[in-house]
Amino acid sequence: LTQALQISLDPAEIISLFFHQIQPLIQVSGVTFKSANGKDDSVIGRESHHHCDYRLTTDEGHLGEVIFSRSKRFSEKELMRIEQLLSALVYPLRNAVRYQTAMRLALLDPLTLVGNRAALNNSLKRELQLASRQQQPLSLLMIDVDFFKKINDDYGHHCGDLILCEIAKTIQAACRSTDSLFRYGGEEFVVLLSNTHAEGAGIIAERIRQKIASAAMNYSGLSINATVSIGISTYNSELQDNMQSLFERADDALYRAKESGRNCVVNSSSINN
Ligand code: GH3
Ligand code: MG
Ligand code: MG
Repeated sequence: LTQALQISLDPAEIISLFFHQIQPLIQVSGVTFKSANGKDDSVIGRESHHHCDYRLTTDEGHLGEVIFSRSKRFSEKELMRIEQLLSALVYPLRNAVRYQTAMRLALLDPLTLVGNRAALNNSLKRELQLASRQQQPLSLLMIDVDFFKKINDDYGHHCGDLILCEIAKTIQAACRSTDSLFRYGGEEFVVLLSNTHAEGAGIIAERIRQKIASAAMNYSGLSINATVSIGISTYNSELQDNMQSLFERADDALYRAKESGRNCVVNSSSINN
């Protein structure tokens, strides 16, 4: 059984393999895994009246809970068998959870905990495919903190770091759940607005700008105000847009926002070259 479970590093797939492998040994209608990290949960089969729950622990701590379910009560003998079978599940499942955690961390910016540039590339690739195949609108916001170097110079790098975290949170709070935020680099963020035309993107960008400008951020008793400039680009199939052209137009709009005095939004679709 352990060998059969070692062919995958996907917790959901392992639970599914486990469920099918144990059927000849003990009949259950469903198996649920509730991961301790809350991110690798999976359910296979269907839930029924009777269940038995097991807490899985490894030398690294709590891995999660496995719940077996079926319509008939479990006998003592069957519970003992389940416990034996579980011992084959623990390590393959732990390896899979560990792997998925590493994969997730590889796509996260460690400071602000939003997606990093690699995550942005993945998402933008997907969004561009949707935009071109299904004629779905797509907009991109390029957000750059104004005079951020001065914040570092005046209050120190640690304060600068905290301000970046606050800004990321404020952007997220101003977005919809379908929008995704990434840290593009230093003090630059990108928001992908799926299914959003230029006009809607303008409204969201303005909301983000205002929220940041009006937020007083606290740092060891000091109240610090930061502002951002935002450049917007919107996918245009006639221009055969790709990642690069979308970034270029957003960058160009951002540059103009900086030129116009900062703390403002410029939409590339309203720039007449
Ligand atoms: P502008 O309004 O033209 O954008 O001015 P700016 O000062 O924001 O732009 P500039 O590109 O000159 O400076 C960006 C600064 O951001 C410089 C760099 O030290 C700082 N920075 C980049 N990454 C981090 C970080 O992770 N933490 C902190 N604290 N500062 C960072
Ligand atoms: Mg910058
Ligand atoms: Mg800046």
